[in-house]
Amino acid sequence: MNNKTSKNLWRITAGQRVRYAAAIAVTGLASAFMLTVPLVGGYVLDVVDTQDLSRGPEALVNAAHALAAFWGWQPYVAYLVVSGVAGVGLTALGASCQYLQGRWAAIASEALARRLRETMYARLQHLPASFFDEADTGDLVQRCSSDVETVRVFLSSQVVQIGRSVLLLSVLTPILFVRDARLAGLALVLMPFIITGAYYFFAKVRAQFKITDESEGALTARLQENLTGIRVVRAFARQDYEVSHFGAKSITLRDNRERLNRLSGAYWAVSDFLCTAQVCIVLIAGGIFLAGGTLTVGELFAFMMQVTMVIWPVRHLGQVLNESGKAMVSLGRINHVLQADEESREPAPTVERARGELVLEDVCVEYEPGKPVLDGLSVHIPAGETVGIVGPPGAGKSTLIRVLARLYEPQRGRILIDGLDIRDVDRHWLRRQFGIVMQNPFLYSRTVADNLRLARSDVNDDEMVAAAREAAVHDAIAGFPAGYRSRVGERGVTLSGGQRQRLALARALLVEPPILVLDDALSAVDTGTEREIMSALDRRRGRHTTIIIAHRLSSVRNADRILVLERGHLIQEGTHATLAATSGPYRRLCEIQGALDQAIEQDLKEATDAV
Ligand code: ATP
Repeated sequence: MNNKTSKNLWRITAGQRVRYAAAIAVTGLASAFMLTVPLVGGYVLDVVDTQDLSRGPEALVNAAHALAAFWGWQPYVAYLVVSGVAGVGLTALGASCQYLQGRWAAIASEALARRLRETMYARLQHLPASFFDEADTGDLVQRCSSDVETVRVFLSSQVVQIGRSVLLLSVLTPILFVRDARLAGLALVLMPFIITGAYYFFAKVRAQFKITDESEGALTARLQENLTGIRVVRAFARQDYEVSHFGAKSITLRDNRERLNRLSGAYWAVSDFLCTAQVCIVLIAGGIFLAGGTLTVGELFAFMMQVTMVIWPVRHLGQVLNESGKAMVSLGRINHVLQADEESREPAPTVERARGELVLEDVCVEYEPGKPVLDGLSVHIPAGETVGIVGPPGAGKSTLIRVLARLYEPQRGRILIDGLDIRDVDRHWLRRQFGIVMQNPFLYSRTVADNLRLARSDVNDDEMVAAAREAAVHDAIAGFPAGYRSRVGERGVTLSGGQRQRLALARALLVEPPILVLDDALSAVDTGTEREIMSALDRRRGRHTTIIIAHRLSSVRNADRILVLERGHLIQEGTHATLAATSGPYRRLCEIQGALDQAIEQDLKEATDAV
């Protein structure tokens, strides 16, 4: 267990340590009760063997005499009854303690697992976007679910088992030596081999479990990816390919689990052999001492039972270490999330709503060192302006939006909102200033109204309908079986790409954000609807700063200003009219799209004439 892992384990047990200590303490009590049962049995055997009541312990003999006098029984019979009742009573007390131990350990471990899950979930909400670039969603799901479960199992049973084993060993070993040093020495002769074997096994299992857990993570990630992209898989008829890839990952997982099971099997076989050999050694030596008259039958019986009680926890150590090995691997994977750097937290400005002025000064962004995606970008966008951004794929348009919302940090330069450096303001406040509509917006599997209410929980029906009208999606929603109460997604209405985009736009409009961003957000909308939305946005002109990223020039031609980006540089800027009149990339783009539109018109005309 490395230092960080153990520190984390210690930290997460805060608030439950007393309960754990109590669980271990009652385990100690349970063991103490259980340990006295063999003694009672041993005395019974000696009394039976010699027919001599004085061989029994004083307390039991006195109780037997009292019982015999009361009921008129024979003292010998009364002694057997008293011993039987004592044995059953001690066993019942031990069992009650064990029940308490199980209950307390379960309560504590469930509480800790809950805390761990919630801490991880909360942590994931505050990790930077770059963390998720490198993580597989499926693997993260596994860390929050099955890895937490492995730690819970460890905490619920293994921690107490370890405590119990240590207690039993430390208490019983001296007792055994006091009772019979010769037999005790022989009883522990194979112990070093059993313990060394357990440690060796622990190291092996831990390494193998790490591999197994990672292959399970890879399988979950594959499954999650496949289900998310099921439409793409169908569209490209890639089902067989996906099934075979999933099968390959499944085989890897099976092989790794088999290796893990083989290791366990080998350990149990070897440790069974050693433990049985250990018991045999004590039995043979005890028999010799018995024949020599230096040991009674009862003493041998009690000793044998107690030796078994020592060997049992030591042998069990293998399983405990096995589980601990798994838990350490899972904790390490959980730590990876818990120790990732969170997004920094800055104070929120006093004004709730910004005006929406944006300034970029010499902004340089790199995802990979030495490969700038935005390179020395300087732009001033006054509040209320509508800005169009165009450029070839990969020019850095979406990256610009990501750094504006501080999802990524620029390596150089600075960005100001209303004159405030965005690095000095609270990210939540900053992101509340933006209403960003993406090309592939995410909608929850809830009702249309719920999805719209995500923007503002206090929104009323009229506001919802007004926003939906502006985004040209009201008619479509009204046509759904349950209107705004229709469920979206898997178990409800299936929305087209354009409907999803328009719903997302309505959601953004409901917030009335100071800065509205459409990141290729009308790409799946037909030109007629696009025109409708653009005129709605025109009517809103001045109410918010609007940034429209588009490949289709019709989306940006009415903008106050158009920025042309190429390979992270601003290469042209101006109104549609000035840029179209100047030779350069924008004009070329106009010519290409114009030629395309003309060709389509011509095709349509010919088709109509032919009819
Ligand atoms: P498009 O018009 O196709 O949406 P874009 O102009 O919006 O393109 P960006 O999405 O900003 O382009 O991407 C710019 C470049 O940065 C691309 O080469 C892309 O591969 C790269 N890139 C984008 N996101 C990441 C990321 N998270 N990690 C690494 N590289 C990235």
